[in-house]
Amino acid sequence: MNGSVKPSEVFLSVILPVYNEHQTIEPLVERLLPVLAQLGGTYEVIFINDGSTDGSDLIISSLVRQHQGRFKAVHFRINQGKSNALKTGFELATGTLVLMMDTDLQDQPEEIPKLLNHLHDRNLDVVTGWKFKRQDPLSKTLPSRLFNRTIRYFSKVEVQDFNCGLKLMRRECIQNLPLYGQLHRYILVLIAKRGYKIGEVAIEHAPRRFGHSKFGTGRMFTGFMDFLTVFFLTRYVQSPLYFFGIYSVLCMIFALLWGGYFIGSHLVNYFLGTVEVFMNLHPLWVLSPIMMVVSFMFLSIGLLGELIYFLHKGLEFNKPIRYSEGFADEGDRDDPPCRT
Ligand code: UDP
Ligand code: MG
Repeated sequence: MNGSVKPSEVFLSVILPVYNEHQTIEPLVERLLPVLAQLGGTYEVIFINDGSTDGSDLIISSLVRQHQGRFKAVHFRINQGKSNALKTGFELATGTLVLMMDTDLQDQPEEIPKLLNHLHDRNLDVVTGWKFKRQDPLSKTLPSRLFNRTIRYFSKVEVQDFNCGLKLMRRECIQNLPLYGQLHRYILVLIAKRGYKIGEVAIEHAPRRFGHSKFGTGRMFTGFMDFLTVFFLTRYVQSPLYFFGIYSVLCMIFALLWGGYFIGSHLVNYFLGTVEVFMNLHPLWVLSPIMMVVSFMFLSIGLLGELIYFLHKGLEFNKPIRYSEGFADEGDRDDPPCRT
């Protein structure tokens, strides 16, 4: 951590993801500029136009021309999703602090100083907004409550509102974040896993007055799948076999006990003289070999996971240890000959 950041000494990068928000871009900039000027530091504003088709690109280009040096923009030719937009913005940001903010005017620019002061006063790495009175329909707020509870429980990150669009972060926290698909909802979990300190402040949230939300009810399903991804990646990326191995062992134990029970009862019957055809004992004996196969499948998936990680990280380890003699170009070889 770089030590505390005084608001007046800040170099702030503002990242604005834009997907068809032509009605709100200019009003947002009008409200944002006085707030940024008031902070007293320096700033840059980076628009990521995520394949808009409603003329947002023209508005952004004209703003970049008007505010040369301070305003920048990247235009995706097709829609890539908010996560990709944010990732690009994070990579291009050069400020000491980076602020991400929705462009639909649901997040209020006037709340920025609150976040900045909180970060400074508590010497935090990240401050996220908490949409204390969320101004969205019930179809959004209910799933969101469930989402927040679940993530809080599993991640142990004590935040009320994980997916708030308004977040202020030290730039170091967001270097190389694996953001793709819809993983922007898990930015705080990913950052927390790196050991950075996260705080939260209640902020005003406005209803969407223009355009429409880009995230429908399908987000329940994708959100759950993403949760599994994040859960897996943050815990088991270095040891996938720990994850799959448990299921492999459990299946094998079941298979052995189940199979043992049937073979045992068959033997008992045999020795007690009540010979029956083994297969006729109970058709469920077949669960035993099935579970053995499933166990091997889990084991193989785990080992494949280990292999992928190994190929990514540990290939050097597997280089043959060797020494050579008599080659004319000995000096150019990978491993210098070992003379003992
Ligand atoms: N957004 C984006 N790409 C997308 C979807 C959304 O850049 O594919 C931007 C959008 O323009 C807005 C922010 O992400 O600035 C939040 O989107 P939205 O308001 O639709 O989300 P909600 O508030 O409904 O969660
Ligand atoms: Mg919105």
